Amino acid sequence: MRVAVLGAGTMGHGIAQVTAMAGHDVVVRDIETAYVEDGLESIESNLEGGIEREKVTREEADAALERLSGTTDLAEAVEGADVVVEAVPEDVDLKKETMADVEKHADDETVIATNTSSLSITEIASAAERDGLVVGLHFFNPVHIMQLVEIVVAEQTDDETLEFAREFVEDIEKTPVEVTDSPGFASSRLGVALGVEAIRMVEEGVADPRDIDAAMELGYNHPMGPIELGDVVGLDVRLDILEYLREELGERFRPPQALKRKVRAGKLGKKTGEGFYVWEDGEIVGVSGEVDE
Ligand code: NAD
Repeated sequence: MRVAVLGAGTMGHGIAQVTAMAGHDVVVRDIETAYVEDGLESIESNLEGGIEREKVTREEADAALERLSGTTDLAEAVEGADVVVEAVPEDVDLKKETMADVEKHADDETVIATNTSSLSITEIASAAERDGLVVGLHFFNPVHIMQLVEIVVAEQTDDETLEFAREFVEDIEKTPVEVTDSPGFASSRLGVALGVEAIRMVEEGVADPRDIDAAMELGYNHPMGPIELGDVVGLDVRLDILEYLREELGERFRPPQALKRKVRAGKLGKKTGEGFYVWEDGEIVGVSGEVDE
């Protein structure tokens, strides 16, 4: 197959990598040459890492790189593609514009997938004339490591598109789950529900963040506890999602004051060095408020 990936950022380059590794010809499109090059370099360095860890052979990596190319020209990327996966920034107007632009250059039967992590696929699809060909493919970061892809079925998505999406996800050796388009899909809605309750427990003094995280890691085999995960994802990102889910699904997603205070103080988690934990060189060194600064 020929696959076009729009956006060479965090997600776009990862999607391009796994798709090329599965044997497809992939064109990555970004708005500036430097971004395209950065994306392709990230793929090369991921593959080098894979070779060092003996997950990928040099031959497989070279063959994947041969199948990959980059461009800033949308028409060049999209013409003749069997599927276009958009991974442009999370902005509904940009996503809608992208749908309409892609349709101008794509074949009549090209499937258009969006990797939005929170926006309504139904709304994004409304910008396309061939809206039955639009579907959500929600990949997870880092794409080459995370096994899950949520297939998000919009109001307009037709059966053939859904079938194509299932086969595509399996073909690139990921595991699909199917979700009807709804706020937070399955993964964010459940993940955020756990995270918000964990923050409320810290707020109420039920337990220390370390004990809450250990409870989920050791008692439920989660690879990372919900408080630590919030710090890793970014507390600002968590708060945005919560506000959206509260608007759509009601008060059970009301953001806790403790979370709002952290965000107002610029304590956004790992990326700023402090959230519910204090971080140094990417590692937790203590609980916020308990560590001498
Ligand atoms: P990013 O900012 O790393 O990358 C976006 C890229 O798109 C940038 O390189 C930007 O230059 C490029 N771009 C902007 N306008 C474009 C256009 N018109 N055509 C082509 N490229 C364009 O963002 P990201 O983290 O890769 O997120 C992309 C999408 O994936 C978002 O919808 C996001 O919600 C979703 N997503 C992100 C994650 C994550 O963990 N980062 C996880 C799942 C889904």
